[in-house]
Amino acid sequence: MQEVLLIKNGELALKGLNRGTFEDVLMKNIRRAVKPLGAFDLRKAQSAIYVEAREGEPDWDEVGDRVAKVFGISAFSRACVVEKELTAIQAAAAEYLADVLSQARTFKVEAKRADKKFPLTSPQLCAQVGGYLLSRFPHLTVDVHNPETTVWIEVREKAAYIHGPQQNGAGGMPVGTGGKAAILISGGIDSPVAAYMMAKRGIELTGIHFASPPYTSERAEQKVVSLLQKVSEYAGHISMLVVPFTHIQEEIGKACPEELFTLIMRRFMMRIASRIAEEQECGALVTGESVGQVASQTIPAIACTDAVATLPVFRPVIGMDKDEIIVISRKIDTFDISIQPYEDCCTVFTPKHPRTRPRLAQVEEAERALAVDELVEEAVRGARFVRI
Ligand code: ATP
Ligand code: MG
Repeated sequence: MQEVLLIKNGELALKGLNRGTFEDVLMKNIRRAVKPLGAFDLRKAQSAIYVEAREGEPDWDEVGDRVAKVFGISAFSRACVVEKELTAIQAAAAEYLADVLSQARTFKVEAKRADKKFPLTSPQLCAQVGGYLLSRFPHLTVDVHNPETTVWIEVREKAAYIHGPQQNGAGGMPVGTGGKAAILISGGIDSPVAAYMMAKRGIELTGIHFASPPYTSERAEQKVVSLLQKVSEYAGHISMLVVPFTHIQEEIGKACPEELFTLIMRRFMMRIASRIAEEQECGALVTGESVGQVASQTIPAIACTDAVATLPVFRPVIGMDKDEIIVISRKIDTFDISIQPYEDCCTVFTPKHPRTRPRLAQVEEAERALAVDELVEEAVRGARFVRI
């Protein structure tokens, strides 16, 4: 039996946004997601997208798994394709949905008729198919208000499509419709989740990772690559830049008070990330900070780091508990990678008593001991792309 994947758009009917562009981006993202699984044709028709195999039968479960990670989709289902003829539709519904119908006790049929030339009206089609299914599955009863399962029949231009329960889509907006942002990505739990959350709002991501060799290892960098690979199952392609951070950390260590070390380091991250992000045409920075989690994530500390950012800084997990962040990191399958024990540059040089209520003037004063502009310039120039 020939199958297709029938996809329902998500938040695409937004007012003021160009629906056509949104659908085009969504189609492109779906196409890219399923491409490794075979040759597919995508077709758009009345708020649905059809994914059809060009030849043979692909592994539709796998196609579904990939489509389930594409943002901008509210629901989807596998459907069987059948000739637009009542007896063919009846027989196909009974065969295609045999498992679901055998297990359910109550059902109903919903029919939609986009092809008005089809000889039966939607209610007539429902009655005819419902009656047939009752004869084939005598244990069933019809419940139009609260059925355990619904049989959907859609009569469209080319064919009729039959499907059972839908699967939830990933929601959100198609990646690419919300512009671009740079995610400051560490090897921790929070920043990959932050990346996922911004991608969900349609934002395309570039990763920026600060590395401090030889204090941080090649494996630590590889861990970040693995994290971004996981995130890219949802976020589409992510470019990643690695920034050399050792010199800056050593200079801060030599010249600045220990309790301000983390904060000054984070200000360097912001300055450098702002520069790189602008070069990469990103309109914002994203971090995985959550208020109160560590000393550098208090309001005064965040105010000090934001003071040197030249782009808006988004912190999608700012109000979340660690437990809540972990739920998402498990869902997107980054948790097990994040907990691998490789040193991050932030954990290498950690002051014993970081200042939780820094004053900006004091921090700026401490930074006068450093050649800030030169150090930033050196790091920006030393940034290199890494394949993910
Ligand atoms: P995470 O779990 O994301 O590492 P965290 O709770 O460990 O977060 P910090 O280490 O204080 O918190 O870092 C806060 C944020 O700063 C991170 O979420 C990330 O966005 C950014 N960051 C930290 N270290 C790096 C790094 N080495 N490279 C790039 N960004 C970093
Ligand atoms: Mg961290």
